[in-house]
This record gives sequence, structure tokens and C-alpha cells, in this order.
Amino acid sequence: MVTTMDPKDYALTGQNQLFQGVDFTTIEYMLERCSARNLDAGEKLLQPDIPNHHLYLILSGKLSVHLAVQETSEHASLIAGECVGEISIVDGKHPSALVVASEPTRVIAVPHDTVWSLVDNSHEVARNLLSIVAGRMRNDKNTLITTQNKKAQFEHQASVDALTGIHNRHWMGDAFPRALHRCAFNKLPFAIMVADIDHFKRINDTYGHVVGDVALKAVARCMAENLRPHDLLVRYGGEEFAMLLPDTDLEDAKVIAERLRVMIAESEIRYNEIFFRITISIGIAPTQHEEKLEILIGEADRALYRAKELGRNRVEISG
Ligand code: GH3
Ligand code: MG
Ligand code: MG
Repeated sequence: MVTTMDPKDYALTGQNQLFQGVDFTTIEYMLERCSARNLDAGEKLLQPDIPNHHLYLILSGKLSVHLAVQETSEHASLIAGECVGEISIVDGKHPSALVVASEPTRVIAVPHDTVWSLVDNSHEVARNLLSIVAGRMRNDKNTLITTQNKKAQFEHQASVDALTGIHNRHWMGDAFPRALHRCAFNKLPFAIMVADIDHFKRINDTYGHVVGDVALKAVARCMAENLRPHDLLVRYGGEEFAMLLPDTDLEDAKVIAERLRVMIAESEIRYNEIFFRITISIGIAPTQHEEKLEILIGEADRALYRAKELGRNRVEISG
């Protein structure tokens, strides 16, 4: 509902952030073309697809600002004494956000021309308007930084295994094919390896899952520390790990796999008073050509199976 401004409206308007430090009596007469508007809860004041020709000063109630459609979470809320619509008045474009009354709200609509007359007549109003726009920009920038940080955090969580801290199978699906393609493109040999802890179930059965987890973490750390910086390592399954070794021929892959096997077999795992050792078996699939990751993993898996059959704690080559 739109009405003319009453005396109480003038008193409240003078307290708006736009008129801070301004001798309101000297500019009051300029507000004659302004009108008062009552918004019901849920009523839209500004929409990104509808042009806006007013600056709105909030006298009472509360407005909710949403960056896209109303369904997205609230970006900010605005209360009595604040204003809204200033960005589209300043740049002459459509509103940058959706603004909805979150409760019954009374606003003063200041027409576009009146805003500029106020600015022309009062340095304080001009300065206040600049300060309001700057505050809005700073708030938006902070929101952007928070959103980017959250996005980076989500991406990290989605690609890293929470227990061991090394990458997970999800990450492998993206990173391995790219590394594989790079090697094949540069005509470099490379190898896929799959490692599996031997008789791991016994560790859990003997010492419990907490100790099993400690052993898993120790194996992951040992592998990560003993691979080269450009090798890729992921926790592929429960107690299985997959590796892609770029620029590595069969002989080098065997040396690397053997080094891992020995390092792990020789390290003692400790948890309080419990001490034990574990071993791993490794299957290697060496190649020179671009092949599907699943095929290479399948070949490495068959070699791993053979290593298990032949007594575990050993390295086997596919083919
Ligand atoms: P093999 O030498 O043939 O590989 O025998 P294994 O006992 O290692 O193999 P099996 O597949 O029978 O058992 C794997 C065990 O790994 C069973 C499962 O409970 C355990 N496991 C898988 N993920 C985790 C984990 O995150 N934490 C712990 N503590 N145990 C896990
Ligand atoms: Mg196992
Ligand atoms: Mg297994």
C-alpha cells in the first residue's frame, strides 16, 4: 500500500543512515515527492528482473536480501535505519538482488531524481551514499571469500580420505586418467600398481579396529613418504592402495614396489603397549600406451591376486 508521508515518517526518515550528520531541516522539503509504502511479510520489494527507480529507506520492520532466487539462503537482512536499492540507482541497472519483506515493513520510496537532487545539494548525503555502497561491496566481497573457502574445503573433503589423509578413489577417477593421458602423449612408459595389506582382518580380529586404523594410517604414510613427488597414490578400498608411477618402466616399477614392500615389512607398528609388523602384496601393470584405467587396474589386480596365491609379502607383474 502506497501513501503520502506523515509527520512520524519524516521524523524516522531523518534518522536513516543516508541522512547521518545532515541538518535534516534544510533538506526535508526535497522529500515531497517521496511516498510511504507498507509491505506485508513475504512481499517483494526489489527483483533482479524488474527495473528499479527508487531508493528505499526502511522505517520499521525487516527486509531479507537474496542473491538469486528466493529459495537460496539469505545473503543479508536489513532493518530500520538502513536503505536498499542504492546500487541500481547509482549504476542505472536492474537490482542486483531479490529483496523481500521478512515481516510487515514500512519503507519510504525516494524517487531516482530526488536521490540525485539530495546528492547535488548535500555533501553529507553524497558521502553517506558512497559509504553505503562501499559497505555493500565489502560485505559482498566477504561473502565471496567465505563461499570460495567453503568450496575449497568441500572439494578437499571430497577428494581426501579422512582416515589416512591421502587421496581417495573419487580423486583417482579424475587424476589418474589425466596423468595416464599425459604419459601416453609424451610417449613415456608408466605403471599402475595395486597394493593390499596381507591378512589385515587378523589385525582387526586380534587387536580391534582402532589398532587396525593405526596400522592403515602407518602403511599410507610409509607409502606416501617412499614414493617420488610425481607419483600418484590413493586409498583405493578398505586396505587397498592404487598408485600411478609416471615416466617409469617395468624395471623401475619393480624397484619402487620392492622398496615399499620392504619398508613396510620392516617397520614396527606401535599402539600403546602393542607392537606388531604387517606386510603388503603388490601387483604391477606396466604399459607404454594409453589404455583405459579400469583395464590397467584389472591387470594389476590379477597380478596382486597371484602375489597373494604365491604366499603374500611379494610383488608380481601382470601378463
Ligand atoms: P588378504 O591377505 O587376502 O588380503 O587378507 P585380508 O584379511 O587382508 O583381506 P580381507 O579382504 O579378508 O579383509 C580385509 C579387512 O580390512 C576386512 C575389513 O574389516 C578391514 N578393513 C577395511 N577397511 C578398514 C578400515 O578402514 N579400518 C579397519 N580397521 N579395518 C578395515
Ligand atoms: Mg588384505
Ligand atoms: Mg583387500
